[in-house]
Order: sequence, then C-alpha cells, then structure tokens
Amino acid sequence: MRSHDVSGPSARTGLGAVLNIEANQDWGARSLAAVWHPCTQMKHHERVPLVPIARGKGAWLFDHEGRRYLDAISSWWVNLFGHANDDINRALKDQLDTLEHAMLADCTHASAVELAERLSALTQHTLGHAFFASDGTSAVEIALKMSFHSWRNRREVDKREFACLANSYHGETIGAIGVTDVALFKDAYDPLIRHAHVVASPAAVGVDEAIGAMRALFEQRAARLAAVIVEPLVQCAAGMAMYDASYLTRLRALCDEFGVHLIADEIAVGCGRTGTFFACEQASVWPDFICLSKGISGGYLPLSIVLARDEIYAAF
Ligand SMILES: *Cc1c(COP(=O)(O)O)cnc(C)c1O
Repeated sequence: MRSHDVSGPSARTGLGAVLNIEANQDWGARSLAAVWHPCTQMKHHERVPLVPIARGKGAWLFDHEGRRYLDAISSWWVNLFGHANDDINRALKDQLDTLEHAMLADCTHASAVELAERLSALTQHTLGHAFFASDGTSAVEIALKMSFHSWRNRREVDKREFACLANSYHGETIGAIGVTDVALFKDAYDPLIRHAHVVASPAAVGVDEAIGAMRALFEQRAARLAAVIVEPLVQCAAGMAMYDASYLTRLRALCDEFGVHLIADEIAVGCGRTGTFFACEQASVWPDFICLSKGISGGYLPLSIVLARDEIYAAF
C-alpha cells in the first residue's frame, strides 16, 4: 500500500524531489547489481522496481521521495513493536554503550540471564534453560540436535528420526529443510536432505484423522523417532492454515505415551501473536523444546532462542 507523507521532511517539490526520485532509482539499480535478495526471482525486478526504504517509523516505511508504505507484513512477521520504536532504541543504545557482545561460553551477562529467567517464568519454570542463537532456522537445527543428543546421552542411540506435518515450514538450512514440507523451498535440494516422516496436518484433515495418522507412525517407528516438530495453531507459510488447540493436547499425550520429544516451533506464532505469549498455552501443554525468533527480536537484531525442559537439560 502506497500513500504520500505530506508532513514528512522530504515533501515532493522542486529540486529536492528530483534528487530524491534519483535516489530511489539509484538504490534500486545498485541493489540489483550487488545484492542477492532472498525468496526472490531476481529477473522479476528487471521489470518491477524494488522498494528502496529510507527510514521507518511505527507501522510505516518511507522511501526517498517521502512515499510511505504500510508494513502490513511486519517485515515478514518480525516487527511486533513498530519501526524505530523509541523505547527499544533507547534500551539498545544504553546496552551498546555498556556491552555490545560477550560470548556465552565461559562468560555470562545480565541481559542474557534476565531474558532467560523471564522466559523460563513464562513457562512456569518447566522449560528452565534458554539456548541463544541467531535466527529461526538455527533454532530449529539446535532443537533437532538437542533432541537427538539427549536420547544419545540416555543410551537411546537409535532415536535419530524426526516427524513433521504436511505443509510445514521450519526454515531453510539443510537440517531444517528436512522437516519442511514446502516443495518450493525443498525440491531442488532433495539429494542433500535427510527426510523426516511427513504426517497429515490437522489444518488439512482435522484433528481426529491427524492424530490417528501420528499414532500409526508412532506405533511403527517410536523406537527410532527422536522428536516431532510442529508449528502450534497456525502453519503460517502454508497460507496461515489454522487448526484446533486440542490437536496439541492430544499430540502431547501421544508423545508421552510413546517417548517422543515434542518440539514447538513458535518462531512465527510466539510472543503473543495468537493471543497468549506461547501458542501452546492455548492447549494447556508444554512441549520439550520451544523455538523462538522473529518476534523475540522485534526485528532489530538477529536473535533466536531454544527453550528446553529441565529433563532434557539434565541429560547433558
Ligand atoms: C520464519 C520461520 C522459520 C525460519 O526463521 P528464519 O529466521 O527465517 O531462519 C522457521 N520456522 C517458522 C515457523 C518460521 O515462520
């Protein structure tokens, strides 16, 4: 959506506007020459110009001509508090002047501890440890590895397979794509992928049939299954395909019955996006792992977190 920001600093009059139009075109051309844009057929932009963003405020992004765009997609679901948010900017500037980064191997610092404590409290201290990473797909990789590794530490070395739902999206690195079921992101890499079991989704076939299909898989493969990974309540990349919370309650029971970990990928749905802080709360269950990214960063910095249950942590 486009409209004009007449009150902005770059009203479209006189020489200033001409220069700004050139700035718009210039950044577009330079970007096409130098930047490989993600999830984009670059040829498309030989005809359709990129949108060059000069600045942002709240829900709006502004180009160099002062045109404004409503960021209705929240910059791909990351931006929960608006662009250039005054409170977040202030906190980040304070943090920057105090400590920009210190490794969490052997060191620790207040910001990491306080965030981990607050997230643990939000799970009633059921998922008591937070593992920090940089983006959503890394969080998924970490949860898959932690699940396998914790079984291995308990001498259950055969538990090395994973299950995911039809039309699932869990990221695009080689491990995460193995539990993703979107052909567009996956087909080209087929020879590189370690495929997960793809099970009917409650968003497509309803809760009863989807639970029946998962039970059938568990009855066959539980001895080899490390974990099942789901996007709780909404399969966002599948076109915001929604399903009833009762699926998660019943899936948790199934995982307990057969000894399979439950990984909740709350990268898109977490941080209040479905009305509760974690989408899983609506099913009154806690998974063994929760992956967070996107909203937890507010769109400011690369950040993701894997929350793990105390039993998992104890296996290490
Ligand atoms: C976006 C997303 C990912 C991947 O996150 P990135 O930060 O883009 O790597 C994984 N799972 C879900 C459910 C997502 O929406």
